[in-house]
Amino acid sequence: MKKLVVREERSAEPVVEFPLVDIRGSDDGPTVAITAGMHAGEYAGVLAMLKLISALETARVRGRVLIVPILSVRAFYARNMQLSPIDQKEVHYVWPGRPAGSYSDRLIDLLFRTVRVANAVVDLHSGELVQELT
Ligand SMILES: [Zn+2]
Repeated sequence: MKKLVVREERSAEPVVEFPLVDIRGSDDGPTVAITAGMHAGEYAGVLAMLKLISALETARVRGRVLIVPILSVRAFYARNMQLSPIDQKEVHYVWPGRPAGSYSDRLIDLLFRTVRVANAVVDLHSGELVQELT
């Protein structure tokens, strides 16, 4: 299990980065990518990914699991629920991103380039502070 920070830095622009856990199983198999925290106020997915990472540390894994436990790190620390605090964009709607775009465009582009090796991608969303969802 490798715990990494996927990072892309360009001059005169905010650094785009997010944590990534890369688990390569002992046997070959498909790759699944699971992302959480695209909307930083959706804590259920973030907590679920932390629990999954902990569980997979001792589990036998076949294939590869890529986990992004919190994508919108800057929004998470700024306690922004929905929009990026850098460019005020709704990151959900800029998929697959643009490498020459704004901060959110570049964040989603970097995520897209990271998870596109997967056979399946699961993107976790949930109720937020302003939504009563369970
Ligand atoms: Zn969401």
